[in-house]
Amino acid sequence: MAETLEKGTISIHTENIFPIIKKFLYSDHEIFLRELVSNAVDATQKLKKLAGMGEFNGELGDLTIEVSFDKDKKTITVSDKGIGMTGEEIKKYINQIAFSGATEFVEKFKDKADGKDIIGKFGLGFYSSFMVADKVEIISRSYKVSENEAARWECDGSTEFELSPATKAQRGTDVILHINKDSEEFLDEWRLKGILEKYCKFLPVEIKFGTKEERVEDGVDADGKPKFRTEKKDRIINNPSPLWTKSPSDLKDEDYLKFYKELYPFAEDPLFWIHLNVDYPFNLTGILYFPKVKNDFEVSKNKIQLYSRQVFITDEVKDVVPDFLMLLHGVIDSPDIPLNVSRSYLQSDSSVKKISQHITKKVGDKLQDLFKKDRADFEKKWDDISIFVKYGMISDEKFYDRAKEFALLKNTDDKYFTFTEYKEKVKPIQTDKDDNTVFLYATDKGKQHGFIEAAKNKSYDVLVLDGILDSHFVNTLEQKLEKIQLKRVDSDTAEKLIDKGEKIESVLSEDDQQKVKTVFENAINNKNMTVSIEAMSPDDLPVVITMSEFMRRMKDMAKMGGGQYGFMGAMPDQYNVSINGNHSLVQKILQADSDERKTTLAKQAYDLALLSQNMLTGADLTNFIKRSVSLVS
Ligand code: ADP
Repeated sequence: MAETLEKGTISIHTENIFPIIKKFLYSDHEIFLRELVSNAVDATQKLKKLAGMGEFNGELGDLTIEVSFDKDKKTITVSDKGIGMTGEEIKKYINQIAFSGATEFVEKFKDKADGKDIIGKFGLGFYSSFMVADKVEIISRSYKVSENEAARWECDGSTEFELSPATKAQRGTDVILHINKDSEEFLDEWRLKGILEKYCKFLPVEIKFGTKEERVEDGVDADGKPKFRTEKKDRIINNPSPLWTKSPSDLKDEDYLKFYKELYPFAEDPLFWIHLNVDYPFNLTGILYFPKVKNDFEVSKNKIQLYSRQVFITDEVKDVVPDFLMLLHGVIDSPDIPLNVSRSYLQSDSSVKKISQHITKKVGDKLQDLFKKDRADFEKKWDDISIFVKYGMISDEKFYDRAKEFALLKNTDDKYFTFTEYKEKVKPIQTDKDDNTVFLYATDKGKQHGFIEAAKNKSYDVLVLDGILDSHFVNTLEQKLEKIQLKRVDSDTAEKLIDKGEKIESVLSEDDQQKVKTVFENAINNKNMTVSIEAMSPDDLPVVITMSEFMRRMKDMAKMGGGQYGFMGAMPDQYNVSINGNHSLVQKILQADSDERKTTLAKQAYDLALLSQNMLTGADLTNFIKRSVSLVS
């Protein structure tokens, strides 16, 4: 057969493309396996298609793809039983297509410094095997030819190749990589298994890698109990028909939960899920799960996985999935997402944008659906999903418009209301003299307990907005809802929270008010505390410390790094100290016989107000305790 050996030169325009490619591919060598197994899957699918069309009449037989390695010979082999290639086809497909793909890549990216970033997305196909191999052999038998008409090709990644006739008992292709010195890490069972599980877990043709031991039943023992023995079985890496490829109408809740466990073995059950299935104007399938998230952004290890025809591509789905849904779990599979292009292109790609919009719409539909179908159940889930919904409402106008129908507000009695319901509920009592309805809210039910009680005594209702996004959400609500203001329950005395234009009469003369004010100012002696005398109900507390809504929001924004308010971050907190002029303690202070006694009483009342808000610490707390002891003894 030696005379039929063909030696040739692959005709490409760029000499020595290999060193350039190798440089670019540096960080991502493992994808060679994804590429080779994907090719094997394609070849198998093509054969099935031909059989389906009646163009292949032989036995399909077992189509399992096998990946194997030989540590001594330093080879990794990918074998398929697909359509195979004739010698002519190898010349055409491998020499031309595979190498021209590589050439094109080099042409495009040789001048770019950020090659690493795009490489994972650039399917270099067959050529990527030269990242890890000094030499690659292909032994292939086309479905069209007989055993001794197979072909053998060999190349070292340069432009020189050898092609010769060969014999091969089985239809299909073996690709044999002779692993280079730098890549011997891949000649390892666990490394290869890991790579296969990462990229090939849901490929549509069974992939065998080694064997595993399995316990199988083996008759019964004397007591009639089943006996077991271990048996070596093929280790199949993948689930060839993952859930997202099936029709939603054939699936039960258990199936979705089981698949979730398959994706994220250690995660808690999800709350619910959305099965995506689009074929126009783009192709997209997938399942998105709403996980249970705690009320803070935990850096989630379980991310959405992106597939293209069941081949794992990446779990960096930043541009495909809208930001506010990045915390969802699950899979998206779309052959329309261009993976062989750079990141910046991906962002501006119109089908990617449409996909993102479609996902947003589907999520909106699903939430609306849950809300309408079973309000009680929706309320139960609300605390867990509110973080997604609020993030979406803050960041996406369109989503806000959908979500305003089903988004919920929770009050301190754990009752839930839609925006409209809540406005109706509080409007009669919580509308101020300018016809604004004021929504009161607490960010910490425990710490603001006193203020909540005081508001409730006035028959006001108080919302709980204690999530990490709620300070932003408050701003969004105020912008969107007409004639609505939001005020934190501790931003003013209960008396002044909602300014209805009514006033309680003060029992103090102007002169006495000034006297009391001076006593407190001297006792407090802190320029960040602004003292004022207010007429409140005699039953209210003698001293109330508040921070105005405006001041606090500016400080919040400064903390979040909000540009124009950044300077606020460095400023000390400013509080209002409201003295209840109608409280009996004030009379006691006025009538006290010494200045020292007046100061002691004022200090004590002020410290109690600080204490009620967890603001009394250190030496001030120690002094307060000493003073209290002497007051009671
Ligand atoms: P791509 O898969 O993107 O077309 P590749 O460089 O991976 O590019 O492969 C080039 C061509 O070689 C394929 O299109 C296919 O026709 C052929 N080929 C590669 N691997 C196989 C295989 N295992 N069986 C049959 N044909 C193959």
